[in-house]
Amino acid sequence: MSAVLCRATWLTQQAARSCLRWVASPTPDYSVLTHLECSRDGTRHDADTVAGTSALGAPLLARYDLERAASLVSPQVIAARPPDLWRYHELLPVRDERHVVTLGEGMTPLLDLPRHGARLGVPALRMKDEGLIPTGSFKARGAAVGVSRAKELGVDGIAMPTNGNAGAAWAAYAARAGMRALIAMPVDAPVITRRECVVAGAELYLVDGLIGDAGALITKAVAERTGYQDTSTLREPYRLEGKKTMGYEIVEQLGWRAPDVILYPTGGGVGIIAIHKALQEMRELGWLRGGFPRLVAVQAQGCAPIVDAFTAGLAESTPPADARTVAFGITVPKALGDFLVLDAVRATEGTAVAVSDAELLAAQGALARDEGTWICPEGAACLAAVGRLRESGWLDGTEDVVVLNTGSGLIYPDTVPVDVPTLTAHR
Ligand SMILES: *Cc1c(COP(=O)(O)O)cnc(C)c1O
Repeated sequence: MSAVLCRATWLTQQAARSCLRWVASPTPDYSVLTHLECSRDGTRHDADTVAGTSALGAPLLARYDLERAASLVSPQVIAARPPDLWRYHELLPVRDERHVVTLGEGMTPLLDLPRHGARLGVPALRMKDEGLIPTGSFKARGAAVGVSRAKELGVDGIAMPTNGNAGAAWAAYAARAGMRALIAMPVDAPVITRRECVVAGAELYLVDGLIGDAGALITKAVAERTGYQDTSTLREPYRLEGKKTMGYEIVEQLGWRAPDVILYPTGGGVGIIAIHKALQEMRELGWLRGGFPRLVAVQAQGCAPIVDAFTAGLAESTPPADARTVAFGITVPKALGDFLVLDAVRATEGTAVAVSDAELLAAQGALARDEGTWICPEGAACLAAVGRLRESGWLDGTEDVVVLNTGSGLIYPDTVPVDVPTLTAHR
């Protein structure tokens, strides 16, 4: 090739490059993240390096310049944005829009449940339906934000123990981000979640034990490998930020006011801690009209450490000797953030309730017959709890009540036995 032609090609390439640079320059103020804060003693940590827990081994909470956010954006501006969780991007940790890894998650419906609400004696009953989100559970929110931020900070692979749904979600978003995923789950976790990990190319291990046993395996693997971040529940600060958007959405969907009561199926507790954090932020932003809702932590009787601690007036939980419930996503014997869940419940004058598997399965069936929606057993636990709280008088029936359905019933096909005749076909 002649020198002239070479030079021309080079110039064209340079022009293309500088043009790309211009188009792709980071959006200023895409996030107003300032630092991370230890949830026990408030110590400040740098937000722009890969972070785990604080020096005290406690979860780190992302903090933002909320005054700046309030000057940049308003509920009116947000209303005009696309219906996904990135509509709250100033209050999320991803600094550069180019690092957003999305499958269209967020802005799930807040459904009225008129027939079921009437049955339970709570006419103003609504359900935030997270069954309609990529991967079929609300874990997609934490995965979208957690994976995006990990990618932004240069992480090559994520590693985590899971009760199934989180692994499925993080595997999917890791694939979308071009990152590796190492997942360990109990053999008893919903079978479909294994397939979700495998189809997305994750490295998957089944563990003959509970989520804590899977966690020990992951800790060891992360120590032996390079490039992987341990993204276990609350050992990484940004999953919580993704889940926080459930709180923003509920309040936005109700015209920037909170309901009277929110019930949440509590395992690791990230969702309820996150909704509480969202409410605090919205109050500081001046976006929340009226007061806070009472937050209710719902667990299954087969694994109810948070309920036990709440009832006993304790600040932290003790793991039960045996943990077993069909609501597999909330089989968490010891949550790292238990003290934050208990604080959220007490600070909002909420409560904690445990329901039996029989009750939650009955609620799952009744809801599907009343309203046509097949929800996961964890979500059904919240509806069973509404019935309980109405009977005890803790709810008087006049409240606006929102239950979180955290996933689709399709993940748990075995919760519904089918006993129907097979007819002989006559051709
Ligand atoms: C993980 C999970 C939960 C519990 O979530 P936390 O926010 O960690 O308490 C509830 N329901 C389903 C379906 C889950 O997968």
